Amino acid sequence: MKTVLILGAGFGGLELAAQLSDNVAGEVRVIVIDHNDGFTFGFSKIDVLFKGHTPDGVRIPYAELTRPGVEFRQERVTSIDPATRHVSTDRNEYRPDILVVALGADYDPAATPGFVEDGYDFYTVEGACRLRERLTSFTGGTIVLGILSVPFKCPPAPFEAALLLHSLLVERGIRDATHIQLISPMPSPIPVSPSTSEALITAMSERGIVYRPNTKIHSLDPAQHLVRTDTDTVPYDLFIGVPKHRVPDVVQACGLTAGGNDGWIAVDPATLATRHPGVYAIGDCADAPVPRAGVYAEDAARTVAADIAAHLHGTPSTATYAGRGVCYIEFGDGQVGKVEADFLSGPKPHAPFSGPSSELAQEKVDFARTRRHRWFHHSR
Ligand SMILES: Cc1cc2nc3c(=O)[nH]c(=O)nc-3n(C[C@H](O)[C@H](O)[C@H](O)COP(=O)(O)OP(=O)(O)OC[C@H]3O[C@@H](n4cnc5c(N)ncnc54)[C@H](O)[C@@H]3O)c2cc1C
Repeated sequence: MKTVLILGAGFGGLELAAQLSDNVAGEVRVIVIDHNDGFTFGFSKIDVLFKGHTPDGVRIPYAELTRPGVEFRQERVTSIDPATRHVSTDRNEYRPDILVVALGADYDPAATPGFVEDGYDFYTVEGACRLRERLTSFTGGTIVLGILSVPFKCPPAPFEAALLLHSLLVERGIRDATHIQLISPMPSPIPVSPSTSEALITAMSERGIVYRPNTKIHSLDPAQHLVRTDTDTVPYDLFIGVPKHRVPDVVQACGLTAGGNDGWIAVDPATLATRHPGVYAIGDCADAPVPRAGVYAEDAARTVAADIAAHLHGTPSTATYAGRGVCYIEFGDGQVGKVEADFLSGPKPHAPFSGPSSELAQEKVDFARTRRHRWFHHSR
């Protein structure tokens, strides 16, 4: 029986394990490795920050992973040799027939001078908890939200944070005493979807949030609480940043990033195969022409699962990565919008937008529930 080793039990790794369990259980042995003991959705960090959820409440323990044909192992990947598919962890050595790297993206907060000393973030659960604590003692002033580098996870997330911050400060009666500014190096919030961008820009303007696109932040001056952009300096009382993203160290060290843009893993965008036979990379760590988001990692996992099944059955592989996914966007006050993007299946990307509603808020809850069920428990 062939072995498929999946490194990383995040959006991509969990979807791939579920697909293989559904379609080729009994034909392959699937081992999934992650150094954490549980999975947390990216958007749960927003729930921790703004909706009073606890880290334990949003964590799904990997002990719940009971899919047929799938073994979970809590281990840290310490080295990968893509040429021989030899993987070392802190507890074991592996030489699988098929290796899938789904280790996600790490952060490099030190890449922006002053950010570690004087900035807050909500891109980790710990960061969201720390910022939540800081906001409880915030009594008014200037909050600057800055996107420090591109690409970053979930392009709508900083805009969601700005809108939810507005609602929180209104609730606490200190919105009038607070100036909120969002600074982004990108030309628009969601470049692939003009209708989504327009809705977010309108929502920010209605709430008095100042939005500065096309503006790159170079550094913070912690002593004077100043943001330095390429054109000016902006004073702040509280700086919240989306840190620069990068591949995890173990990926950086293994050579898989050779040929990829800006230090991401080079893949064939149609199949997610790397240049090493039997080695794929999916999700945030891969240099596929899609944003970094769980839904695209999930779609990549489906493509790779179909490719693996075709190889096992000796049939030609017809799976082609479409880069499709539905992203939900929090607008505050229980209202959620939705953008349905398709990056690669047509002649050009398109991404229609559905305006915020409480029905879509429920759809987002259902989205998380179906993933939890599919990834951790039974088929379909
Ligand atoms: C605030 C926020 C909001 C978001 N909202 C959304 C949203 O609404 N919709 C959406 O689709 N996406 C959203 N995302 C993005 C989404 O969370 C990621 O894009 C997605 O998780 C990527 O999936 P992945 O499988 O590539 O990586 P991940 O899900 O990050 O999984 C990688 C796994 O690898 C493990 N790992 C890393 N290094 C090692 C190692 N050395 N050894 C062992 N294990 C290791 C990690 O523990 C992790 O579990 C959001 C992200 C954030 C931060």
